Amino acid sequence: MRKSVAIIGSGLGGLSSALLLSKKGFDVKVFETNGKSGGKANSLRLNNFRFDTGPSLITMPFVLEEIFEEAGYKLSDYLKLIKLDIICKYFYADGTVINAFGDLEKFAEEIKNKTIDTSSSIKNYLDYCKKIYDLTTDIFLLNSPTNIKNLLSAKSFKSLLNLKNIDVFRTVDEANKSFFKDPKTVQLFNRYATYSGSNPYKAPATLNTIQHVEYGIGSYICEGGVYKIVEVFYNLCKENGVQFQFNSAVKKINLNGNSISGIEYTSEEGRSVIENFDLVVSNADVNTTYKKLLNDTSSKSAKRYESFEPSLSAIVFYWGVKGNFSKLETHNILFSTDYKKEFYEIFELKKCPSDPTIYIYISSKFNISDAPDGYENWFVLVNSPYISGQDWKKEINLTRERVIKKINSYLKIDLNTLIIEEEVLTPEKIESQTGSRLGSIYGISSNSRSAAFLRQPNKSKKYEGLYFCGGSAHPGGGIPLVLLSGKLAAEEICNNEI
Ligand SMILES: Cc1cc2nc3c(=O)[nH]c(=O)nc-3n(C[C@H](O)[C@H](O)[C@H](O)COP(=O)(O)OP(=O)(O)OC[C@H]3O[C@@H](n4cnc5c(N)ncnc54)[C@H](O)[C@@H]3O)c2cc1C
Repeated sequence: MRKSVAIIGSGLGGLSSALLLSKKGFDVKVFETNGKSGGKANSLRLNNFRFDTGPSLITMPFVLEEIFEEAGYKLSDYLKLIKLDIICKYFYADGTVINAFGDLEKFAEEIKNKTIDTSSSIKNYLDYCKKIYDLTTDIFLLNSPTNIKNLLSAKSFKSLLNLKNIDVFRTVDEANKSFFKDPKTVQLFNRYATYSGSNPYKAPATLNTIQHVEYGIGSYICEGGVYKIVEVFYNLCKENGVQFQFNSAVKKINLNGNSISGIEYTSEEGRSVIENFDLVVSNADVNTTYKKLLNDTSSKSAKRYESFEPSLSAIVFYWGVKGNFSKLETHNILFSTDYKKEFYEIFELKKCPSDPTIYIYISSKFNISDAPDGYENWFVLVNSPYISGQDWKKEINLTRERVIKKINSYLKIDLNTLIIEEEVLTPEKIESQTGSRLGSIYGISSNSRSAAFLRQPNKSKKYEGLYFCGGSAHPGGGIPLVLLSGKLAAEEICNNEI
């Protein structure tokens, strides 16, 4: 008989698990609190403007390719990924503008022309990032580090014996300063720690692997926007018989002893419904799964997860803006003047930064239907602390003022007169709309050396039949990693349950 699986949540992790499990012959039903799939990777419409609400840059396209291939499809038949010539345009307070070209020669030349660093320093640095990637990817990303068989493989041994080479003992900032003299170059590369929601002045330099992912493997946009990926997954899941139950929040995972027996959810009509399942995959936040869905606050895993520091949160302004801004690329960063202070304010004082680094993503630059003629859709993000008793109304108002003032001074415009549509995503909304613990956007931060080993494994040790995927589980947050988490959860299920 086909085994039945309930997937709690239809974020990208839940969708990749659902697709692969349905292909392996499982009877899959996805429960989602919201009215549509996507979770943090969603789509927002404000009159004639469309916005991707969360992720905006696509890396490690081979992860998508492999998942599609495993499901029997060819990625290029469904999604068009376009490699970026300029990955990101960086603006500094002193007027310097650095284009981070995807082409290494062009990027090295740009750094040589715009900073006091040399083109060979960039090449040496990216070689170093690649070495970390080669030593860590198998063990920390593509497989589970808690799987004994994986840990005993020759490659894993090599990684573990090479702790110095994977640079666990220095921070991201310390390592970057050893390669570059110019604070601008250091700041540019320190920024990559935020891709895992972490603090570059605390997180281990092992995270510098991300730079290889972006420059060595390449950075992409998706024709139609990021939400297109969600739509394609959803449609393929439907085609393969996956059932979706929207507006249905799971309240409880039911147990028979320590084994899964099913779930209890609130239906669209507000009724409490119990349904039996052989297996459960939780794409919900790990901490919430233990505390709220299993009512487990005492087991080792539940306690351990509660003690972890959440990742960064964010404030995002979705602005419909009048005009076409040729100074801006699809992805842009307006840097703060004191990056260390910015992270001190966020992680130590738990305050929104007084001088925030601003990220502007404009999908209408390549997807022209996302904004009317003569307008652009600006996704404007600043890093913020996770929820910790702040007065958010005050913080958001202050941040809005700071952001507009800074954009005006960097781009020499009067933004207040150009915004015609507005919506704001706050840490509180991230928590309420996606169930993310304290509004974190990448699960737990990697501000400590051991974070990679501490993430929730994709298979529960305590509860028989319970699996995890999504940003707070192994291998972590961000599009490629959550897709991998869904794939790893599906693989664990196939290894254990068939
Ligand atoms: C503002 C922002 C910017 C980002 N930028 C980037 C970026 O540039 N690049 C990148 O790679 N990543 C980025 N990310 C991170 C990326 O979006 C996430 O890591 C990824 O989308 C999370 O996927 P997930 O599988 O963990 O599911 P989530 O997106 O967290 O979705 C979980 C789903 O589960 C549902 N759910 C939770 N509890 C229940 C329940 N009890 N019952 C039913 N349903 C439930 C939720 O409603 C939600 O739909 C960003 C995120 C945000 C918010």
